[in-house]
Amino acid sequence: MTVEATKETRGFETEAKQLLHLMIHSLYSNKEIFLRELVSNASDAADKLRFEALNHGELYEDDPELSIRVSFDKEANTVSIIDNGIGMSREEVVDHLGTIAKSGTAQFLSNLTGDQKKDSHLIGQFGVGFYSAFIVADKVTVETRRAGAAKEEGVRWESSGEAEYSVETIEREKRGTAITLHLKKDQQEFADGWRLRSIIKKYSDHISLPIIMEKEHYGDDKEEKEPEDETVNTATALWTRSRSEVSDEEYKEFYKHISHDFSDPVKWSHNRVEGKLDYTSLLFLPSKAPFDLYNRDASRGLKLYVQRTFIMDEAEQFLPLYLRFIKGVVDSNDLSLNVSREILQKDPNIDSMRAALTKRVLDMLEKIKKNDKEQYAQLWKEFGQVLKEGPAEDYGNKEKIASLMQFASTHADTDVQDQGLDDYLARMKEGQDKIYYVVAENFNTAKNSPHLEVFRKKGIEVLLLSDRVDDWLMGHLAEYKEKQFQDVSKGELDLGKLDSDDEKKEQEKVEKDFKDFNERLKKVLDNEVEEVRVTHRLTESPACLVVGEHDMGAQMRRLMESAGQKVPESKPSIEVNPSHPLVQKMDKESDEDRFTDLAHVLFDQANLAEGGNLDDPAAYVKRLNKLLMDLS
Ligand code: ADP
Repeated sequence: MTVEATKETRGFETEAKQLLHLMIHSLYSNKEIFLRELVSNASDAADKLRFEALNHGELYEDDPELSIRVSFDKEANTVSIIDNGIGMSREEVVDHLGTIAKSGTAQFLSNLTGDQKKDSHLIGQFGVGFYSAFIVADKVTVETRRAGAAKEEGVRWESSGEAEYSVETIEREKRGTAITLHLKKDQQEFADGWRLRSIIKKYSDHISLPIIMEKEHYGDDKEEKEPEDETVNTATALWTRSRSEVSDEEYKEFYKHISHDFSDPVKWSHNRVEGKLDYTSLLFLPSKAPFDLYNRDASRGLKLYVQRTFIMDEAEQFLPLYLRFIKGVVDSNDLSLNVSREILQKDPNIDSMRAALTKRVLDMLEKIKKNDKEQYAQLWKEFGQVLKEGPAEDYGNKEKIASLMQFASTHADTDVQDQGLDDYLARMKEGQDKIYYVVAENFNTAKNSPHLEVFRKKGIEVLLLSDRVDDWLMGHLAEYKEKQFQDVSKGELDLGKLDSDDEKKEQEKVEKDFKDFNERLKKVLDNEVEEVRVTHRLTESPACLVVGEHDMGAQMRRLMESAGQKVPESKPSIEVNPSHPLVQKMDKESDEDRFTDLAHVLFDQANLAEGGNLDDPAAYVKRLNKLLMDLS
């Protein structure tokens, strides 16, 4: 095969340009991280080579000792980061270094706030690692050759980080990648051994590969000495060290290396398990949700190592989907080095590892909830919605997940989700044996739902649910600590011991008195409602709609309908409030046409009050106007 040494110049896409510009500005205050990012990439490249070499030993060529070399040239004002990892082909160079625009770039850009601190965090999550070189350099040269490729298949990539880059095929003896930063004039400080060493120590000490620099000699005889190398970092896989030997700072830097997140993690859990299974795990709880948390294709899962050898990124078999925000590493001593995703899926040992890791994460969350309310509130804001997926996915941990949940409720009557179920249980009234809740499309509709009237009157707390997942969540939760959940808008209300005997007698009497009225109303609303009943839940509103105990809730119905799904037909019942003047007026209405109009308006209004849509809004307006005209 002949290789054309063609040189071509290509433009970055518009989005890439925009991103680059933004990044250089928002990360400027933290510019030394360029080295961390490039070392992190070099380390990943070594991991990839090791993995590919498991089946293709020849990829090591005659250079099996993997390392990263950092060097500088004060006169030329350059810094170089050189690895003997996997390297890149010409196509890979164009793909990886010419395209920052991964899926979701546009969405990412629209998320930027203009606030530097927040934006730099987002940029970190987006993983623009390589491009951080342009914070300090006005030209970057990459020379690389993929492991196993002929020496004529080397590639040189060069760019000043503005509009264009060039690629050309070159001859390159050595496998791997050398990145040379031509420092900006005012960034000379980085062409300095002491400075580079201290940055490596600070950010990259945990890298398991040796990071090598030329030893510096001080004093008069330096001209006579042969150059000598030294390893600058600790160079052991961080998770293999014992907890007491690893500082918080090291954990934090390691997290940034594996997660591409620029912010510190909130907490971590580092454990060695020996026995039937033998593995080490290091799990991190990030402080912020990634911008693509809800994108089903977004990356998730842990980094999998087998006996210190990197096997794969995003091994999603080790944690359930509702904990997809957790980052970390799992290193197994039992799995085969040839393990694949398919094998992981079928291995029963993975299930028990997953159960143990899940427990660790839930414990970590529980501890924060107990010890640091403020931090937990913040975490709930970030990850609460995802945790709410938990009870459906992970039946075994249902109760534990439920105990982590936070809700808005009539206790505080604000939309802040800060009440746990245990808080609720502690406030239950004497004789109360259910946890009451209402689900609506938004907080205000939930808070003002007519279904809450009797609960407010009696001082019984009701959870106010209005997140998209809530109806679905409650379908899976069913009970907590042996107390059943009860949707206050479903079924016939039975407050059990919460109603006094006198109240019960009074209810029976009213029901009898209103029997005829109910039948009359049912005739008019026969197509719309299942049943007409006297209500026990309303104190102020004239009527409300109630769905059957086992029917789909109104929120769920609207969600499914808007997703174009067919929803089984089920009619609600209407409950009327006999003490409301409108109902009393209707009871006395002798004009049947007028009664019919009032009946429909009553039904439509009950629907509106719950945030529902009318089937025929024009008919409603017409009837209402007719009734208004009659007033005069
Ligand atoms: P990320 O590391 O988040 O994927 P980067 O912009 O830092 O993003 O790097 C883009 C890609 O370029 C990497 O995923 C990798 O495929 C490739 N790359 C970067 N540096 C190296 C390197 N030293 N050796 C081999 N490939 C590299």
